[in-house]
Parts: sequence; structure tokens; C-alpha cells
Amino acid sequence: MVDSPLLELRETKMPYTRELRDLQSLPPTYPFLSVYLDIGHNEESAEAMRVFVRGQLRHALTDARRTRDRNYIDTDGRHVLAYLEDVIHARVERKSQGVALFACARQKVFHVVGSSEPFRSTFVVSDRPYLDPLQSVTSGAPRVLACLVDSRSARILELGAGSIQPQAEIHNDVMRRHHQGGWSQMRFQRRVDDQVDHHHREVASALTQLSDREPALAVVIAGPEKVVTAFRAYLPERVVQRVVVGLPVSLKAQEREIVGRILASFERGEERRNELELERQLDDALSPTRGARGTAEVLQAANEHAIRRLYVSSDFDARGWRCTGCSSMGTHVPLSCPFCAGIVESTDVRGELITKVLASGGEVAAVPASLQMQTGVAALLRYRT
Ligand SMILES: [Zn+2]
Repeated sequence: MVDSPLLELRETKMPYTRELRDLQSLPPTYPFLSVYLDIGHNEESAEAMRVFVRGQLRHALTDARRTRDRNYIDTDGRHVLAYLEDVIHARVERKSQGVALFACARQKVFHVVGSSEPFRSTFVVSDRPYLDPLQSVTSGAPRVLACLVDSRSARILELGAGSIQPQAEIHNDVMRRHHQGGWSQMRFQRRVDDQVDHHHREVASALTQLSDREPALAVVIAGPEKVVTAFRAYLPERVVQRVVVGLPVSLKAQEREIVGRILASFERGEERRNELELERQLDDALSPTRGARGTAEVLQAANEHAIRRLYVSSDFDARGWRCTGCSSMGTHVPLSCPFCAGIVESTDVRGELITKVLASGGEVAAVPASLQMQTGVAALLRYRT
């Protein structure tokens, strides 16, 4: 069974899955505040967090069109600031490096998620929680159905966000060679083949049942190379399509080691798949006909509510301006807003841009720094601006 070193996995990975599900299931309600912070745990970062949250809050209050919305934002903002002081004075989240706050007074929601990784400071007002940064962290905590199989036994485990749940255990009495006794070699071999065949069929049937119960779960098959190859043939096509890794491992190894290898290989695969998908999407966003590249172009598109999907590199940071009247944005601060002649103020582009895109019904995707998106931001457009 599960030996104690597996408990380490339970502690090092964070089970965000439930929190995400809860937040995702909330009905859209405006205004909904999502605030991500890098805690830092020093005086400098404390002051930076205060300045950031207060500044963003001020913008949000100015932007609110209706008194009712403004009152809700004000209430949520006070909750966020109060919690922030608790964080700064180490009354809460002492061990976290990052914290995500979700506040919606209208729905009586105030939800905090601590993280061992710092978040980029982000403040978003929308009609729903902004979950992308949290999802990026969660994607490192895979959920996968692992089938450890050899020619006479099998274990099926669900590897959750840091947990291991045994689902099925199958042993079949397959004869070993030294039992051959009076059997002719051919009959003996056929008998063994039949028994292995029967065993694989039984394991395949158990795995199929479990996999059909949760078809979204990726499947990893681990075992001696020959068995893994042979075993796949017993699975129906729909399950084969869910298999993300066929991992050659000796099942004689420690289970902790096997599970570790499964998770590592699955995560590598996931990362690569996510990156490939993002690269494909970025190619679209970076094409001159369908997208906008770089801060100036992207801001212009955002002003025209033309952004279908915004891509923000995790290391993107830029200052720009924002109109207090019509909330248009740009890079080089003008004397007054070129659109409405209103008063402009200097602002952090990242958070405001994300807020603006979400507010106009667009999506936002975080791009890992490893992809080295040179322009920092890019956007796929609804139409050509
Ligand atoms: Zn303006």
C-alpha cells in the first residue's frame, strides 16, 4: 500500500482544484474583484502592495458607472485592504509567497488562496473571478489515472493534486515457466499466452470503466516496455486517446519512485502540450492580419474593444496612461485624452489592460516567460482594427 514518503507529495502540491471549481461555478455578478499579490514579506514589498492595491482601487472606483457598483467596489476594496494588513503584519498567510483574493460583496464572496509561488501583482474588476494565474499554478498539479501493469498484476491509481488514491488492484495466476511439468512446449506457451491475454483483458476492462467514469482524466500506462505496448491493444479506441504517456518502468521499483516518474513525465508532457498549443495560438495572434503585437498596438485594439484573446507574457511590465473620463489607454502620456480631452493619469499597463479586455468580453491567457514572447503582449482580434 501507500508508504509514508508518498505523504510528502501531499504536502508539496497544492490542492487548488476544489477552490477553482467553486469560483468557476459562481454566477456572473458585477463587480467581482480579483487581486493577485507577491507577498515578499518585507517592508518594501508591504508598501508596494499597499500602493498597488490603493491605486488600482481608486481607478476602479472612478471607472464605476453606477453608484451601486461603486459602493460594492468600495466594500470589497475595504475587505481586500483589511486582509492585506493582516498579511503584512503576518497574522495570516505567513508561509505563502503569493496570495490571490476574490471579493464580491454582492454575492457575499470573500475567498483567499495562498500560494507557495509569488503572483504577479494584478487587480481585475470584472463580472466573474479572474482565474488564469491560479490556473497556471494549478496546471502543475496534475490529475491522472495511472495504470501500473505487468503480465500478471496491475494497480490503477488516481494521482490527484498531491494525493494518491488506489482505484483497483488485480492479480492473475499466470503460470511461470518452471511450472511446465508434463505440458508440451507449444501447449504450455499457448496456455501462458491465454492467461496473460485474460489478465490484460481484465485490467483493460477495469481501466476502461474507471476512465469512462471521468473521461477528462489523462491516462498513464506504466510497466515493462513489452507489456505496455501489448496492453494498449486491449483498450478501446476512446481510452487509447486518453493515454498521454506509455512509461517503461520496472514495477519492482519502489512505488514512490514509480509514482514520481509518472508525475514528472506527465507534467513534462502537459507543459509541452500547453506550450505547443500556446505557440500555435500566438502564431495567429502575431500574424499581421489577425492580431496585434506589442504594447501600443494592443492598447489601441483594447480601446476599440477588438480583442478576442489577450496574451500576456509573465515578465511583461509597462507604464502607460489611462483616461479618467473614457478609460482609453496608450503608451506615451499625452497632455489630455486624444479621444475625449479628459484628464489622463500614468498607470501600470498590465493590470488595466487585463481588466479592460475582460470587461469587453475578451479572454486573457498568461504566457510563460520560457516562450520568450518578444513583444510582451499580443492579441488575437475579433476584427481587423
Ligand atoms: Zn478619454
